[in-house]
Amino acid sequence: MPLRYFGDPVLTERAREVTEIDGSVASLAASMCDTMRRVDGMGLAAPQVGVGARLFIYQSARMPEPAAVVNPVLAGSDGEWELEEGCLSMPGLYFDIVRPKQVHLTGWDLDGAAVSIEADEIEARCIQHEMDHLDGVLLLSRLSPRQKRKAMRSLRRHPPGPGDGGQER
Ligand code: ZN
Repeated sequence: MPLRYFGDPVLTERAREVTEIDGSVASLAASMCDTMRRVDGMGLAAPQVGVGARLFIYQSARMPEPAAVVNPVLAGSDGEWELEEGCLSMPGLYFDIVRPKQVHLTGWDLDGAAVSIEADEIEARCIQHEMDHLDGVLLLSRLSPRQKRKAMRSLRRHPPGPGDGGQER
């Protein structure tokens, strides 16, 4: 599936709840995994491939395969941690962003079973980044005014598109 980039309205809209976890949701997740692998990302939210549904996939070093979470809810968070973050929808731009260090996420897997995920550090970071995508929030909203001015200058100069490299991390 082609990636959507900064400037595409689907990236700034709140994604809708998935009403039924059926085969179409599983096949969307599978296509997203292919896309994520192609660009070597850590996570990908459905709006990033143009689908306004509350579903994301993510992968961490300890996981053999990417996991999908449907209708995820951030049930809790703790700590604080600054880390450089990038986004597949704005390739080549990286920002130091402070976020909670640990998160507790609930939601559903592709079989319709409830999941409860405790994550920390990079995995927690990735989950929070993907959650933002489902709420139509891009990294730009997490920046200081100064960081944001710089980012906007760069985005105007080089509007992101399919030719760009970059990683969701
Ligand atoms: Zn992103």
